[in-house]
Amino acid sequence: MDNFPAPDERVAGGQRPNLVAWLPGKSQRKVWVLSHLDVVPPGDESLWDSDPYTLRVEGDRLYGRGTEDDHHGIVISLMAVKALLDLGLTPPRTVALALVSDEETGSSKGLQFLLKNHGHLFAPEDLIIVPDAGSPDGTMIEVAEKGMLWLRFEVQGRQCHASRPELGRNTLRACAHLIVALEALSREFPLQNQLFEPPQSTFEPTKKEANVPNINTIPGRDVFYLDCRVLPEYDLGEVKERIRALATETAQRLEVTVNLEAVQEQPSAPSTPPDAPVVQALARAIREVYGREGKPRGIGGGTVAAFFRRAGLPAAVWMTVSQTAHQPNEYCLLSHLVGDAQVLAHVFLNAAPDPQREPAR
Ligand SMILES: [Zn+2]
Repeated sequence: MDNFPAPDERVAGGQRPNLVAWLPGKSQRKVWVLSHLDVVPPGDESLWDSDPYTLRVEGDRLYGRGTEDDHHGIVISLMAVKALLDLGLTPPRTVALALVSDEETGSSKGLQFLLKNHGHLFAPEDLIIVPDAGSPDGTMIEVAEKGMLWLRFEVQGRQCHASRPELGRNTLRACAHLIVALEALSREFPLQNQLFEPPQSTFEPTKKEANVPNINTIPGRDVFYLDCRVLPEYDLGEVKERIRALATETAQRLEVTVNLEAVQEQPSAPSTPPDAPVVQALARAIREVYGREGKPRGIGGGTVAAFFRRAGLPAAVWMTVSQTAHQPNEYCLLSHLVGDAQVLAHVFLNAAPDPQREPAR
């Protein structure tokens, strides 16, 4: 096992671990399984039925912070390797289990650090599996992510008494007009990509900051936010320019000003091809273990696989989830752990070093 620690003066010992455990195969080509060691805080502890940091087993359920996100990933990869070791099986490809830090807060001390400082570890021919998201039936193989654009709109008008609207510039009304005007976006960026659910880009007004505390004052300042998830087919800059134009147009019409600011701007990483060898290997293993058809899919959110994809490494995100990540009473299912470990073991045993020679199925 190797450690590729990332310096971090905030932690005892001054570094964060990034562990890689190796199971040598018949070839140097690798199958990677990358999971993350860090967990999110428990949140409001009164919402938990038991101590978040003491594992509680109840029937098929394992409760505790991190059981699903992402110790599920760690445990299934260890179980699969242990099964191979117990049976004395040498896989065709070398199996590499990466247990990294810092996934929940940006990966700069985790996968990003590894790719930047130890990029030679990974090769485009490697199969890279990231068990950190999935669907409850275990059929979603995540290969693509939409771009993410979060915008803050600050609308400035003039506050006045509600009985004399002509003296002011009502920013709440301006916000309403602006939000309706922004509905043009889904018509102007109409492409559909059936990999994704939903298949189109989405442009949703979400948060609205408080304005005036009383009913009889016309507000002169309002702030709201727009959450855009944009298909990889579109350029985020182009979307932002169009939003700016719609905002300016509406602001002029209503005689207010709008200040636009990007809170988050994350272009989508290149997608992993839906027929990439890692996707085929997973789909075959899912069929063998669960008897279901694994499907390559895209999601609106972001995962750590984007860092691999930006580095030209086609990664697939997969596991069977209970959808309790980051929630109180987070749990994972023992039966999912066993089944998912079997899926990984099937991938390890069936992944030929040269994907071209893999029989088509
Ligand atoms: Zn995670």
